[in-house]
Amino acid sequence: MKTALYKFYSWGRSTLSISSKNYLNSKKFQHNSLAIGKSMSYGDCCLNQEGNIYQITDNKIISFDKYKGFITCQSGLTIADLHKITIPLGWMIPVSPGCENITIGGAVANDVHGKNFHRYASFGSHIDFLIILKSNGKKFFCSKTKNVTLFKATIGGIGLTGIILEIGFKLRKIDTILTDTYFKTFSDIRCYLPIAKEFDSKFEFSAAWVDLSNYSCGRGVVFGSNFSKQKYLPTQYKKKVLFKLPNLKINFINRITSILFSKIYYLRYKLSFAKYFQNTIFDVLYPLDSIENWNLIYGNKGFIQIQASCPKNNFVSFFKDISKKILSKTSSPLSVIKMFDKKKSFGMLSFPKTGHITIAIDIPNKDFSDKFFYEIESIVDKYNGRFYLAKDSFMSKNFFYKSYKRIPQFMKYKDKNLTSSMYKRLF
Ligand SMILES: Cc1cc2nc3c(=O)[nH]c(=O)nc-3n(C[C@H](O)[C@H](O)[C@H](O)COP(=O)(O)OP(=O)(O)OC[C@H]3O[C@@H](n4cnc5c(N)ncnc54)[C@H](O)[C@@H]3O)c2cc1C
Repeated sequence: MKTALYKFYSWGRSTLSISSKNYLNSKKFQHNSLAIGKSMSYGDCCLNQEGNIYQITDNKIISFDKYKGFITCQSGLTIADLHKITIPLGWMIPVSPGCENITIGGAVANDVHGKNFHRYASFGSHIDFLIILKSNGKKFFCSKTKNVTLFKATIGGIGLTGIILEIGFKLRKIDTILTDTYFKTFSDIRCYLPIAKEFDSKFEFSAAWVDLSNYSCGRGVVFGSNFSKQKYLPTQYKKKVLFKLPNLKINFINRITSILFSKIYYLRYKLSFAKYFQNTIFDVLYPLDSIENWNLIYGNKGFIQIQASCPKNNFVSFFKDISKKILSKTSSPLSVIKMFDKKKSFGMLSFPKTGHITIAIDIPNKDFSDKFFYEIESIVDKYNGRFYLAKDSFMSKNFFYKSYKRIPQFMKYKDKNLTSSMYKRLF
């Protein structure tokens, strides 16, 4: 019998795999397989060209202590579905990426980071235990005290050590979903670092937008948010979606629209009298989620997100080189910077490195080529940086081994029957 094949896309819609699809029956799993969550990764870690894919949809909350905030859930639970239950009771995920539709399994496998890295590190630091299924059918309980190295390999282990079945972790207590957000504009990238340091010391959540639409010396806006003193928890939590983008198959993003958007965005904050506004934690964490399918704005060919980091002392020169390179070929409407300070990530292949600054740059796929990427890679290499695996589809094997030093140790815990397009390309 011929196996049916399906097209799987990652979030940028610029990378895909042709794979078979199966359902995990919780026993042994087949050779050449990969477990995925909601395919919200931009790169090819959630694809498996010429392999098999198990999309994990088991999403039960197994236990929840509403007094202490301890929760155990199945790995296919999304953050949004978790929040539906926990937000009205005053608990939320301690670390969240910029999208609420990802699964907890995906959050573990990429050891996701958020705007509160400087206070809460990445998600892996909050996990009490994991239950992992290996391909021989054996289940492993691992934690900071049991099967510790398997635990460290699985956090940020891009799904290659075993299928994560259950996760136990502690939620963050909240009294309100309201937040007070402050901002400061900067006209030159050299001014970013002192403002970022000030904002990290004052705010639980902080990140900056930077103008990469045309040559602007790296102007931008730093945002910082804290929970408000005003207590408010909704009795029911429902994700706010303003509208759903239809699939018009047209790319709306080019140099002109990027410049226009960036100008308006920058001036809106630059010219504002008030340097403060009240919003909600969902506006702070998930600004893009209010437009469903916003990734379709880049049309048929999709887009690429390049997310790299380098030591903060090199950041100004790194930014200048990267922006010059990007602007020689294309432009970006959306570039975000975040400092990874004070805290440390837990996993062997976790991306955030203490003392680094990361930049994430969205660019249309139509302006992209492998050659262009390797020119960017040589800049990241020059400044002792690295790329985030969740966003990558192009990095060279040499640079991967150079910038992720713990690969040999990680390989001891890789399950021989698990693979991915990323694994086939990079390892
Ligand atoms: C709008 C947007 C904003 C984002 N912002 C951020 C951000 O701020 N910070 C950040 O860190 N990331 C960010 N991301 C990336 C995203 O958080 C990660 O890529 C996340 O891992 C996606 O989760 P997923 O459930 O879709 O997993 P998938 O993309 O489907 O899979 C990701 C990886 O997890 C593995 N995996 C998933 N489930 C399992 C399982 N049960 N067992 C074993 N392996 C599994 C897969 O094999 C794959 O390697 C953002 C993504 C989007 C779309």
